Amino acid sequence: MKADVLIIGAGSAGLAAAVRAARAGARTILLERHGFAGGMGTASLVHTFCGLYLQDAETPQWSNPGTLAEEIGRRMELATGLGAVKSGRVWFLPQHPVEFAALADSMLREAGVEVLFHSELVALEPGWRARVACRGEGIDIEARAVVDASGDAVAASALGMGHMMSDSRSLQRPAYVCGVQGVAGEIDGLALAGWIIDGIRAGDLGTAATGMHFRASGRAGEVFATLDLAGMETGDYDPTDPRCLAALEATGREVAMAVVACLKRSAPGWEGAFISHWPARAGVRESRRWIGQALLTGEDVMAGRRFDDEVAVASWPLELRETHRGPRLRYPVGPAGIPRGALIAAGVDGLFMAGRCLSCDHEAQASIRVMGTCFATGDAAGKMAAASAG
Ligand SMILES: Cc1cc2nc3c(=O)[nH]c(=O)nc-3n(C[C@H](O)[C@H](O)[C@H](O)COP(=O)(O)OP(=O)(O)OC[C@H]3O[C@@H](n4cnc5c(N)ncnc54)[C@H](O)[C@@H]3O)c2cc1C
Repeated sequence: MKADVLIIGAGSAGLAAAVRAARAGARTILLERHGFAGGMGTASLVHTFCGLYLQDAETPQWSNPGTLAEEIGRRMELATGLGAVKSGRVWFLPQHPVEFAALADSMLREAGVEVLFHSELVALEPGWRARVACRGEGIDIEARAVVDASGDAVAASALGMGHMMSDSRSLQRPAYVCGVQGVAGEIDGLALAGWIIDGIRAGDLGTAATGMHFRASGRAGEVFATLDLAGMETGDYDPTDPRCLAALEATGREVAMAVVACLKRSAPGWEGAFISHWPARAGVRESRRWIGQALLTGEDVMAGRRFDDEVAVASWPLELRETHRGPRLRYPVGPAGIPRGALIAAGVDGLFMAGRCLSCDHEAQASIRVMGTCFATGDAAGKMAAASAG
């Protein structure tokens, strides 16, 4: 197969990159190992778009107006009927993974992107030639430009190029999100935490259950349950180790089953509750990152630094989750620019990156990883890749 632009990964960043590149006239192939786009926003049931709006604004103000971040935000509002919500100093948009996957299908179809689902990148050579595996069959793809939107910098790994990854102790912790249905009434987080503590005291639950919290999905009786995990079941946390990931998935399911069974017995309104869906995969916040022509740092984000060549704006605080005991938020003085070079690989031509694996340090990643910002960096990478291929 031949393309002008090959996008690896159809998460928030890859979706935006593919749509932008195709709208710019590039013959675009989008590669994704799942059977749907959306990445963590669908496969891992992450259900709010953060980073779409400016911090501290009285009313929601788009941080990347005119980009696919705004377009996807608006289309999601129409799909769910839900609007932006303010929480402390920030705004976010509730989203539903079911709507997100369908919305992504429509946008990719409208833009004329060639989508390859159930397909995984297994090798890449500069030039560019990609080897893709689909259910045991190999496919070769030739492209003029590549965007790595895999979240895990898989292209850097495939090329044997240098990349960054935080040490196991400081990596942002993973979490397991599942869908629960049959819940009556409002979600009272404090009351539910109390029932969980009672369950632990009674010996029905382990202490890992304290990491569980809940958010109503916006659909009648449906709740998303999120379990913050330490990821240490098999030793040090390593999101690129399949044994560690297997333990993470199994622990997520085990704790979720026990918590929902406990709330069913004790919490008013939860008598008819049941787990309705598991995620396709546990949520990984941080893994490998690219080394690009520029490096965005946490200091840049905190200072609200602006760049002459910036291609997107980061507006979410540093959301540090280095333990499984909840976030530590650090608020920047204002929105920060993301320089062009943070989306361009150093040392090779025609390779761009977007989303949570772009070129930044651990602290900056704690801001730019949110989906609203991933849409914006995806948009920018798609535009650059189309221009470079054209
Ligand atoms: C538990 C949790 C809670 C979060 N909460 C929020 C929140 O409330 N709001 C928010 O905005 N953000 C939140 N985030 C962060 C956000 O969800 C992610 O950082 C963001 O979705 C990353 O988008 P991405 O496109 O860079 O990567 P991903 O969403 O990871 O997408 C990468 C895609 O690439 C595909 N892929 C990877 N390798 C290959 C390969 N070799 N071949 C083919 N396909 C491949 C994957 O299957 C995936 O679909 C949360 C994250 C987690 C884990």
